[in-house]
Amino acid sequence: MTQHGFPAGQSRARRASDDADVIVVGAGPGGSSAAYHLARAGLDVLVLEKSTFPREKVCGDGLTPRAVKQLVGMGIALEPADGWFPNKGIRIIGGGVRIELDWPDLSSYPGFGLVRTRRGFDEIVARAAQRAGARLAEGVTVTGPVLDDSAQRIVGVTARDTATGDGGAERSYRARLVVAADGNSSRLSLAMGLRKRDDRPLGVAIRTYYTSPRHDDDYLETWLELRDSGALLPGYGWIFGVGDGTSNVGLGLLNTSASFGHIDYREMLRRWLASMPAEWGFAEENRLGPVRGAALPMGFNRTPHYTRGLLLVGDAGGMVNPFNGEGISCAMESGEIAAQVIIQALARPDRASAELALRGYPQALKDAYGGYYTLGRKFVGAIGHPWFMQFATRHGLPRPALMRFTMKLLANLTEPRGGDAADRVINALSRITPAA
Ligand SMILES: Cc1cc2nc3c(=O)[nH]c(=O)nc-3n(C[C@H](O)[C@H](O)[C@H](O)COP(=O)(O)OP(=O)(O)OC[C@H]3O[C@@H](n4cnc5c(N)ncnc54)[C@H](O)[C@@H]3O)c2cc1C
Repeated sequence: MTQHGFPAGQSRARRASDDADVIVVGAGPGGSSAAYHLARAGLDVLVLEKSTFPREKVCGDGLTPRAVKQLVGMGIALEPADGWFPNKGIRIIGGGVRIELDWPDLSSYPGFGLVRTRRGFDEIVARAAQRAGARLAEGVTVTGPVLDDSAQRIVGVTARDTATGDGGAERSYRARLVVAADGNSSRLSLAMGLRKRDDRPLGVAIRTYYTSPRHDDDYLETWLELRDSGALLPGYGWIFGVGDGTSNVGLGLLNTSASFGHIDYREMLRRWLASMPAEWGFAEENRLGPVRGAALPMGFNRTPHYTRGLLLVGDAGGMVNPFNGEGISCAMESGEIAAQVIIQALARPDRASAELALRGYPQALKDAYGGYYTLGRKFVGAIGHPWFMQFATRHGLPRPALMRFTMKLLANLTEPRGGDAADRVINALSRITPAA
């Protein structure tokens, strides 16, 4: 065995002691996407997921055309009759203005988004990975890495079967490579010494569900200003119709805001909703379930994305889009990028060459998002100032051409090549802004 964990002289063969070619930790959208693409290429993939499906996940449940493209690419049927609720675009409210912007018509992305609660969504994506050939073990909690003899490289994980309720005995699973897709807290990354970066944006958001006549709204509604009887509250909010009689309502705050870390989010939600028309139904008696919150790790807030046999995917690698808080599409896209890198690496004839391919993963992510995320970090810094948001909503929202540009920028929806003037400006800005 070499110090890098591949058998000396070659990488193609699997070690007799391995349980799989690749272990994926976590079956959220990022892990399931990675597993799907790995399995399609014929690799033996073992996905370890601590919960059992179906399970809830705190989310706004909004899927942009980028996420839709990923689902289509995995062969998932998106029929409204099966609970996929389509939308035409986003509605932005702020500065006394309300504007509806349709998703752009592009050759690269579909012209519609979707809403689907994560309770059903994550299971559907995980089952697609299983159908492609991935082995999914539910109720198995990964407890740490298994390291090679040099204690440097990850060659597997330890895990407990938690589905049984008694904690289960710890056992280890070994593989040639490990993907950490275990979400924002990513204990596996932490155990490998990869901490969150303080110089990157982080959001905190809460959400809950109400029965509401607005459940069949076919625009994703975003509030850039939250008000309570005229008083401006920090943060931004959303109301997404789920199409099943309920709306997902939530709000979030970025760590660039002065109020971050010392605000009662639930009280803020109560105050914001109290200012809404009663007929929308966002009242306590119509609330279904608790108000739950979680963090949004943005703009590559954990790096490097590859080190010593471990690749980071989705929230584990802090990949939420800093412009709009969207994390599902980035998780699925990074899952696919990681899979493509792994497929190439494991086909290389020797270890050094395989390692070279793996070190290409952070660069592939930078190529895909780097400049755009750097711009996003500057945007997040600016909107942390209330005066900027007020200026932008008052002077930007009334200008439809400017808002169409903004929509493409916020949702990262441009033609990669060619396109209209807005596409070319956004692509050029992303290219010339250094990826970091
Ligand atoms: C309030 C809120 C609203 C949001 N709204 C939206 C939205 O509308 N649209 C959007 O695109 N994004 C939204 N996001 C972001 C989005 O939820 C995340 O970016 C996305 O879930 C990331 O996917 P992931 O696969 O990387 O991680 P996750 O979805 O977090 O999945 C991680 C998986 O790993 C499993 N796991 C964790 N630890 C272990 C372990 N030790 N062993 C085994 N398994 C483990 C977990 O059970 C989970 O299944 C929102 C986030 C929040 C908090």
